Amino acid sequence: MSNQQSNNLNNLTLILNASYLPLGVCNSKRAICLYFLDKVDILMNYDDRVHSPSMQMRVPSVVKLKKYVSFNSLDIVLNRKNLLMRDHSSCQYCGSKSNLTIDHIIPKQQGGKDSWENLIIACSPCNSRKGNKTPSEAEMKLLKIPKKPNRFMYFNQYINQKNEGWKEYLFQSKN
Ligand SMILES: [Zn+2]
Repeated sequence: MSNQQSNNLNNLTLILNASYLPLGVCNSKRAICLYFLDKVDILMNYDDRVHSPSMQMRVPSVVKLKKYVSFNSLDIVLNRKNLLMRDHSSCQYCGSKSNLTIDHIIPKQQGGKDSWENLIIACSPCNSRKGNKTPSEAEMKLLKIPKKPNRFMYFNQYINQKNEGWKEYLFQSKN
């Protein structure tokens, strides 16, 4: 198999449940396997092709499971990368985009937890100004109330020029 072909197999494929609700993202190699196992229907393809001596096909971009699977909510891992994504890489007190750190809104010393609701991106000047105080003690205001990111954010991170067609399937999902 050529390098180009193995690259094509690393395209990402959006997997929808039988109900069309987005379930997850996998590499196209896995999606092609699912197709040959008769587990999925292909709804959308990339222009890229893969071929073996006996067949050739376009690389699937969106597939839908033939059988409904009961749904496991897709939890987004709480880490620095995902916090940056949620907070658009900007300080949640002043909007600055440089010297970014992670701030506990309720400081750890006061029982603040490591959670989506208590962690935000803050620039280091704001973080040191706030110190070990709560925002109200420090008289600082949050630009928005932090929440656990929704599933759309999870899928949105994978969208690029090549798979813009996914949006058609993502925007109609209600959660
Ligand atoms: Zn700041």
